[in-house]
Amino acid sequence: MADEPRDPVAEANHIWSDTLTLLKHNSSLSPRDKGWLEGVYPEGVFGTTIVLCVENAVTRQALENELRQPLLEAMGMVTGQDMTPAFKIAPRRPAPRAAEPAAPARRGASAPKRAADHDEPPSIADLGKEPFGSHGPVPKVPTPADVATSAGYPTSRNKVARDPETHLNKNATFDTFVPGDSNRFARTVALAVAEGSGRDFNPLCIYGGSGLGKTHLLNAIGNYALVKDPTLKVRYVNSEEFTNEFIEALQNTTQNQGQIAEFNRRYREVDVLLIDDIQFLGGKEATLEQFFHTFNALHQANKRIVIASDVAPKNLKGFEARLISRFDSGLTVDVKPPDLETRIAILRMMASMNHSNIPNDVLDLIAERFTENIRELEGALTRVTAVASLSNQPVTRAMAEQTLQDFFTTDVEVKPTDIISQVARYFHLTFEDITGKSRMKNIATARQVAMYLTREMTSLSLVDIGKVFGGKDHTTVMHACDRISNGMQDRQEIYTYVMELTVRLKQGNTDFKQQ
Ligand code: ADP
Ligand code: MG
Repeated sequence: MADEPRDPVAEANHIWSDTLTLLKHNSSLSPRDKGWLEGVYPEGVFGTTIVLCVENAVTRQALENELRQPLLEAMGMVTGQDMTPAFKIAPRRPAPRAAEPAAPARRGASAPKRAADHDEPPSIADLGKEPFGSHGPVPKVPTPADVATSAGYPTSRNKVARDPETHLNKNATFDTFVPGDSNRFARTVALAVAEGSGRDFNPLCIYGGSGLGKTHLLNAIGNYALVKDPTLKVRYVNSEEFTNEFIEALQNTTQNQGQIAEFNRRYREVDVLLIDDIQFLGGKEATLEQFFHTFNALHQANKRIVIASDVAPKNLKGFEARLISRFDSGLTVDVKPPDLETRIAILRMMASMNHSNIPNDVLDLIAERFTENIRELEGALTRVTAVASLSNQPVTRAMAEQTLQDFFTTDVEVKPTDIISQVARYFHLTFEDITGKSRMKNIATARQVAMYLTREMTSLSLVDIGKVFGGKDHTTVMHACDRISNGMQDRQEIYTYVMELTVRLKQGNTDFKQQ
């Protein structure tokens, strides 16, 4: 697959067409089973992930459950490798109509791609009726508005949708995790743990640098485990939340016993515990002691534990040897920075899930520029798309170059107080308004933007950001960050605030006192 860059749409169409042929001849499938495949069409293939558009959630469910096995087998036979389908709810394509005047047949990486240039796969009903190829359905590219109204599909892949019970981000799944050499082993064992077959990998420790997919994998494990068995109790927690819940339980001295018992119950009854950023527990002796007991109780009961950390367990600082040896008793895997091919595949997947039409040379540019961190890769794509959409321009390489230069070139150290001052000035408010408690809408929004920018531009933890903002709780900060990152996708003004403020802060334009 590596020698020649492929066109993901054409490739997906070929794979899907052959897969449908196999499924049609699969005698173990009933006509009703085959009926589910009606109207399903591929959008693109990214690494081993193929994005399949389905009409609604019921079809998706059928494909994910009853048809999963035959589908995987058929795609495996067609491609010679394990493929992962990612389902997307999108409007059905209109019925086939005569093709527009044929474009000269051009194939290969450099030929400009238009939807009508691609071979389209037949629908299952068409198979065997007439040879396919002379004309095909012209795909309707779903607009964001179309997609927003179709049930169950978020307007953007990176929209954070946390489940109140499990705390899982429902959008971080295996389907949306692009495999590459840098993460393939981690993904495989994570999937085994999620399926319940990886019992020997307990605990599973995933470690690696920032922005390389650890949190995504933890959430994917939880989401997948719940799809397989919805009765499971799954809990995702980062170590800050764990610490805070424990401290809150301790603080209430009158009800101390009751609160601690409740804390223990909450954690010891889970079937799958996913604990993120464990390095932050280092040196917190009381919390670590509590965690040690929770860990042992779950481990002895054969419950699944998955831990993410920024360093290998043996290099964790401020952890007792007994805990590290517990971690080492399971399986430790790492995630590394992705290679160029994987970075491009990730960007394609992100653009496709967001329905952004980004030329290949722009994806190449971003993938070449951001090599160490997938979060930054994603951030760069978001900014480029946002600038284009706000200025009503198509995304071009020149425009992307300019945007990346504005946002990412100056590596100034930004202090949280600079962010607060700059945000206050931007919204014509005072520093105290931002760090205060007023719930007036304009002040609350400005405060949330400032918290979001502090999270993005500094390395402070949620708890420390809360402190800088006048002693707010870490959950308030987390809520603010989620609101702004979601708002950036739906609301133009939020985009604009974040972008303009980022540019000002990056330019070191913080001489607010002289105004
Ligand atoms: P970490 O926890 O290692 O710091 P995250 O899991 O938060 O990193 O990943 C950062 C961002 O990159 C998230 O938006 C995540 O969805 C995305 N991401 C990471 N790895 C992949 C991948 N292999 N495919 C698609 N998206 C990815
Ligand atoms: Mg993380």
